[in-house]
Amino acid sequence: MSDVLGTLYLYNRLLLFTCLRGQGGVNRLDLEGFIIVRVVLSSLHFFGCRPLAGFVALCLCLIAWPAFGDIASIEFNKQDSIGLGARLEYLEDVENNLDLEAVRQRPDKVWTPHRAETPNFGYSDSAYWFRFRLVNTDLKAFDAILAIHYPLLDHIEVYMLEQGQRIVEEVTGDTYPFQQRPLRHREFLFPVTLHWNTPVDVYIKVKTAGSMQLPITLWRADSFSLIDQDEQFVKALYYGMLLLLIVYNLFLFLSIRERPYFYYVGLASSVLVLMAGAHGYMFQYVYPGSPQLQQLMMLLAVPSTMLFASLFAAFFLRLKETAPYLYVTLNVVALMFLFCIVGAFFLPYDTSTRISVFLAIPASLIIMAVGPYAWVKGQTSARYFTVAWFFLLLGIFVGAASKFGFLPRTAFTEYSISWGSTIEALLLSFALADRFNSERSARYKAQREQLKAIDARKQAEQKLYHQATHQPVDGMPNMVLFQQCLHLLLHGDGPRKHAFSIVFIHLERLPEISKTLGHANADIILSLFSRRLNGFDAEGHNLLPIEEDSSRQQHFAHLEGVIYACVAQVSGANDLNALAAVLLEHLSQAVEFNGMELDLGVAIGMASFPEHGRDIATLIRHARVAVDHASKRSHGFALYHDDINPYSARRLTLMGELNKAIQDDALNLYYQPVISPGSGQLIGVEALLRWNHPGLGFIPPDEFISLAEKTGLMRALSHWVLQRSLRDHGDIQGNYFISVNISAVNLQEVDFVARAQKLLAEQHIPAERVVFEVTETAVMQEPEQAIACLEKLAALGAKIAIDDFGTGHSSLAYIRELPVYEVKVDRSFVINMDQNENDQTIVRAAINLCHDLNYKVVAEGVENEAALNMLRDLHCDLAQGYHIARPMPLDDLKVWMQQLANTG
Ligand code: C2E
Ligand code: CA
Ligand code: CA
Repeated sequence: MSDVLGTLYLYNRLLLFTCLRGQGGVNRLDLEGFIIVRVVLSSLHFFGCRPLAGFVALCLCLIAWPAFGDIASIEFNKQDSIGLGARLEYLEDVENNLDLEAVRQRPDKVWTPHRAETPNFGYSDSAYWFRFRLVNTDLKAFDAILAIHYPLLDHIEVYMLEQGQRIVEEVTGDTYPFQQRPLRHREFLFPVTLHWNTPVDVYIKVKTAGSMQLPITLWRADSFSLIDQDEQFVKALYYGMLLLLIVYNLFLFLSIRERPYFYYVGLASSVLVLMAGAHGYMFQYVYPGSPQLQQLMMLLAVPSTMLFASLFAAFFLRLKETAPYLYVTLNVVALMFLFCIVGAFFLPYDTSTRISVFLAIPASLIIMAVGPYAWVKGQTSARYFTVAWFFLLLGIFVGAASKFGFLPRTAFTEYSISWGSTIEALLLSFALADRFNSERSARYKAQREQLKAIDARKQAEQKLYHQATHQPVDGMPNMVLFQQCLHLLLHGDGPRKHAFSIVFIHLERLPEISKTLGHANADIILSLFSRRLNGFDAEGHNLLPIEEDSSRQQHFAHLEGVIYACVAQVSGANDLNALAAVLLEHLSQAVEFNGMELDLGVAIGMASFPEHGRDIATLIRHARVAVDHASKRSHGFALYHDDINPYSARRLTLMGELNKAIQDDALNLYYQPVISPGSGQLIGVEALLRWNHPGLGFIPPDEFISLAEKTGLMRALSHWVLQRSLRDHGDIQGNYFISVNISAVNLQEVDFVARAQKLLAEQHIPAERVVFEVTETAVMQEPEQAIACLEKLAALGAKIAIDDFGTGHSSLAYIRELPVYEVKVDRSFVINMDQNENDQTIVRAAINLCHDLNYKVVAEGVENEAALNMLRDLHCDLAQGYHIARPMPLDDLKVWMQQLANTG
């Protein structure tokens, strides 16, 4: 049975072939003939006349033979699609002047059968004609689509003839508006309905300036739409991915402004335009009405892709540093493509395309080569670059190979260029990210290092700052911080303008201790003292912090070797003196060191803002003056006052004028009587200096005498006093002592005794009548010289008195070395002795002690009767004071003496 069917089939084919040989295709008559012949042959066969049937069939074949050179027919049965490239015939129309009729008239022999999958003639100026015959061998009619899968063809004419009638006649191409297409699709689609056994002859003319190729397929319409859907999906994925990469890198570029990102965006965008252009999407969706724009975009896409690719390679691979020659080469390549881009606007389409494509080949190779080169040179990001370009080129290669039939057309080969460019774009984006990442971590590292360095520098600075603002001995704030604190008080936002005082603490005896025990030990003692300072209840006494940090406050500064200071929010003499007294009590206890009890000789000097100074320098200077002054006083603290300042403006004026006053005899001597408390008799007078300054008025002797001591005027001054007092003494009738005060400076003068002797001689006054008063402290300054001087005076017969007894630091041991005649108990003990028992005790002890040593005792400062009576009871030898008489000029003294004589 199969034999029967096989033979039938053979007949059928044979017959069909025979019938189709005419160029007009089968007509109705042919069809009837065909059916008749088939019935006859089948009958012959069936009734056993097989040889006859074979013979008839063979004859028919022979008759049909000449028709074998006719138009190539393509049978279409149940397939979804059929590639037409290898089945058609073509004709080169060099002059581009043939029309359909002319072409149909041409003999068959001028048509060349095409064998390869896709007709491709490269760039050609000729037009090409293609022809083939479509035959539906299925029994049903079906709707088919003739698809040309190359959207870049400029001009296409499609003619379809059924039984000599033109059933389709279309002129299209990408130089025609998109709307004119028979089917609005990015590829060229031509619908046709194929009826059973009704061949359709197809003639296609193509003329294009670009690559002349014709990937052509016949599709069953429904299959095509299915396949097309799939393809759209894949393409959408592809474009979506590219777009995403472009946008992502564009944002990166906008935020970090690095060139490679820009070039990447340029490259990916160009590839997108190139691919979307080549796939026909741009024309379909972006500029469907403008074939010119489609042409221009396609002209621009290739050179701009190459331009950005070469720039990207040059900058991304940092060729400028690693391979300057390659860098220059790639820049030249980029420049050439820039010219191509410009040329696209002027040059004819084909010239422009050809130049671009011609240049693109070597340029791609160069770019392909620089990747591995940089990789070998050790650039890590070059790996991505190399692989990326490899994939792109692989995609192009596979695509080309499949187009030319070297590789089968599969989903993979079909989209290979898309795959290649996607992978390339992805990898390059990774590469950028990788580069960004490594650069960022390098930056972070550098930043960290920098921060570390800054930290180290800060620490060093802090250490230096600490060193510069603290005392090395005890780590207490030094003068710098102290002044800073004052600055803040005066100029900062703090509680300024409120009165405050600075308190200086001076350790008078420390230099002496340092000389005895050595510097190292003195430093230890200083730290012990600092510890004691820090133990003072600073806040309780309104001391302001000098240094404040999170952990603690420092209320005392160690300004220099033996001077400490603090700032107190206290003002007014009473409060300050109270503070000084408390502080002194806290500090003046002896410091224990190595079993020794050391008295550091604490003295406190204070100066207040604003009355003692409105700026830091003045305040500090005055606090120093006060502390110097305090050292000389018995109670160990002093508040600044202009009078105690040896450097005040008034003092400077006086200094200049005292000399002049001596010269001009402008000074005066007052005399204060000294009496015997028992008898009330006048025993002697004390000469006291008076200076009535013409401008400044009365100037206390304490003030200008200390000035004279400091300026070398003391010699002249004492000389003047002695001379005047001796002269005046001559005026006084009677045997009285005359007491003259001399200063420490006089005791150092080599010729003091000689001059005194000379004056005594001049006035004819016996030395025995003169008492020289010196203070203990004056003697202590240069004891040896002082003692020698006093001894010489005593040797002359003059008497020596120790003035201000009880206020100095020295002991009686020294006094015993001196040729003392009398001791004058300081007035501070006498003034209140009638009310103050302590003073009484002191005065009594002094009187007894002096009497034991055979000295006469003089009590100064007798201001009332009670004191005088007490002194009398205590057997004090002599008394002097306002109660008895105030110091007075010579004339008044004479009157007073007269009155005394009268009452006596
Ligand atoms: P001084 O030697 O202790 O002189 C006694 C001072 O006590 C005098 O002050 C006198 O006015 C004062 N005075 C006397 N009686 C009383 C009293 O009852 N109550 C009070 N509160 N004070 C009384 P003056 O004159 O101001 O002299 C002060 C100091 O100046 C003297 O203290 C003496 O150290 C020095 N001085 C005065 N004249 C001379 C001088 O010619 N040569 C030297 N080197 N020093 C002199
Ligand atoms: Ca005196
Ligand atoms: Ca005195």
